[in-house]
Amino acid sequence: MGVFSSLYNVFSNLFSVYDDNAWFQRKNVSKLDLEVCNGEARDDLSTRTCWKCVALNRTIFQKRKMPNFFHKNCKCWHDFLRNVEISSIFPMEKITKYLFFDKDKKAMMRSMGYIPDDAEVIYKYIDSYVKEKFVSGDFELQVLNKHGQHITMRFLLDGARDHINEKFACHIGCVVWPNVQIRIATPLLQD
Ligand SMILES: [Zn+2]
Repeated sequence: MGVFSSLYNVFSNLFSVYDDNAWFQRKNVSKLDLEVCNGEARDDLSTRTCWKCVALNRTIFQKRKMPNFFHKNCKCWHDFLRNVEISSIFPMEKITKYLFFDKDKKAMMRSMGYIPDDAEVIYKYIDSYVKEKFVSGDFELQVLNKHGQHITMRFLLDGARDHINEKFACHIGCVVWPNVQIRIATPLLQD
């Protein structure tokens, strides 16, 4: 069990004792996290925790893909986790009321052969893809801002119907939320 308070200890323990796919939960004494703040982190003056540490509070990453955000006198520590089950924050409306609704997004989907009837198939595909790729570390760390640590997953989507023999480079944009929740922000975007 790892509870470390200094940068040196975090790194020496992370890089020697645990293997690359070990999971860690970043924590600090603040009661605030992204969920408590309704998706917009803020400084916690009562515990003198900066908004970046609030945004990362209680998030979970594997050693091989951790946000490289630390600062001097950072009071965050990392707890090693044995079992991790990923859940997604991904309302069906992201597909039915956005991807197959917004004029431009709908045209983008159609250009790859997909129509609104495919909503459920696309939803399941994205949902399981994100969970699988988060576990395998197959994603890119992007910016850490008040909305959290952003990550991107790139993939080739098989076309459908009149585009069935084609493949399309796409990506999914997510934000890592506390307690192993991945919020799917941009469900699908053709590159
Ligand atoms: Zn901080």
